[in-house]
Amino acid sequence: MLFPTVCPSCGRENRTEFTDSGVHDLRCAHCQGRYCLFVRKQKFEMLFDLGTRALLDGYAREAVASFAAALERFFEFYVKAFALERAAEQGGEFGDARAVLDGTWRHVASQSERQLGMFALAYLLREGREPAFLDSKSLGADFRNRVIHRGYLPRRAEVEEYAARVFSLIDELLGRLGDAAAHAELLQELTFAAHRDTLGDDVISVFEEHPGMFRARRFGGQGVNKLGAEKPAHAPHAPPNSMQKFAQALEERGALLQTFKSGGG
Ligand SMILES: [Zn+2]
Repeated sequence: MLFPTVCPSCGRENRTEFTDSGVHDLRCAHCQGRYCLFVRKQKFEMLFDLGTRALLDGYAREAVASFAAALERFFEFYVKAFALERAAEQGGEFGDARAVLDGTWRHVASQSERQLGMFALAYLLREGREPAFLDSKSLGADFRNRVIHRGYLPRRAEVEEYAARVFSLIDELLGRLGDAAAHAELLQELTFAAHRDTLGDDVISVFEEHPGMFRARRFGGQGVNKLGAEKPAHAPHAPPNSMQKFAQALEERGALLQTFKSGGG
């Protein structure tokens, strides 16, 4: 998956491949200048955008896997945001909280059912109520399993409905997380900072925020839940307007996701 980057030394374009870490060590093909590009984007955002791109390009079946992965990674994001928020409230040191969290996550990292269990408890402790939306019908789990494990060929409309469900759930929970999301985002910043410390003096660091379905809604655009905004009044119990919310986000941001496609791959 290639995307265009701009060399900070000569201003010309270089294409590179998205990395899992968001860190891209680059050498300009035109002026040979070295730079390191840090893409501020959470894994769940990246996966959801890739799913949206696949859906728009007509790869309905492939899109399902990305949406499903986005939801799993969002649950991880929520758990980490909650754990770090709680540690901060108790006066804990971020580095210590992060180390304990990393150690704990290793116990659940390879099994999504364990992660779902952690999310359920995190939600209960943070919101004081049952995560009623975790039943398999609300999550579209049967649909996802049919597509991913049994080779079912879904119609586009079915995938759009599934995407809207996942989008609405993540969007709602992100809104409820509010400021707490910044705790989990700090994890990525620290990873970036650690890498930056290893770079030579001749390497220019560049930080970018790429447009996406969720970031867009948090930091700009219409009807936004900015970080720190009031929590929405209604709970994420299978919101009735999920298709409309997804459609609106698509209309506002879908075209900007074109960057994922440029250069093919
Ligand atoms: Zn250059």
